[in-house]
Amino acid sequence: MQSILIVEDELVISRVLKAYLEKVDFLVYQAFNGEEALQKFDELTPSLVLLDVMLPGYDGWEILKYIRQKSACPVIMLTALGQINKKLIGFHQGADDYITKPFIAEEVVARIKAVLRRSPEIIREHSLETFGGLKIDFKAHSITLHGIELKYSPRDLSLLLFLAQHPNQTFTRDQLIDQVWGMDYDGSDRAVDLAVKRIRKTLKNWPSSEGEIKTLRGLGYQLSVYE
Ligand code: CA
Repeated sequence: MQSILIVEDELVISRVLKAYLEKVDFLVYQAFNGEEALQKFDELTPSLVLLDVMLPGYDGWEILKYIRQKSACPVIMLTALGQINKKLIGFHQGADDYITKPFIAEEVVARIKAVLRRSPEIIREHSLETFGGLKIDFKAHSITLHGIELKYSPRDLSLLLFLAQHPNQTFTRDQLIDQVWGMDYDGSDRAVDLAVKRIRKTLKNWPSSEGEIKTLRGLGYQLSVYE
């Protein structure tokens, strides 16, 4: 699955974009200030970065420069009206496109798809974890069971990736909502139960001697893996 890192300090904008992008099957990560953006970029190796210019901490231009020094990852700048000159600087520094605020979310989705289409596939070093027949590629954001790729919605995928990053650790529903789905989440914690139920269904051919998603009553969930 392709992943988008949204770097935007305005919560409402970030939240709306995330909802739209998830609807069209992107895995979405959010950063709300400059430091967080650099850290998440390194950690998550997104397929594309949506980068606001005006940010607390490092601004969008500094972040763009940082990204360009280490990667060809496509970047779309979000600029306010009146930043026309800076916009040009953005192109010189290697932004792939820019979008002027206010924008409509459908337009952002269309631009992202266009930029991804014309960007060469980024070769990533893979970061693989294998639990018996279950193979998790944290950089390509893909999960296979006995060689067959499993299909998930962006939300379910992010939940399973998170649990797989912390095998044999228990998380409460609230922790999972907070750490995985983030502050854009406004559903009930029952949604975690439903997501786990769907994920378990995809793992039904994973031998229980190798691992399982375990419910710890009154505590939460963990991905238990056995040697
Ligand atoms: Ca901003």
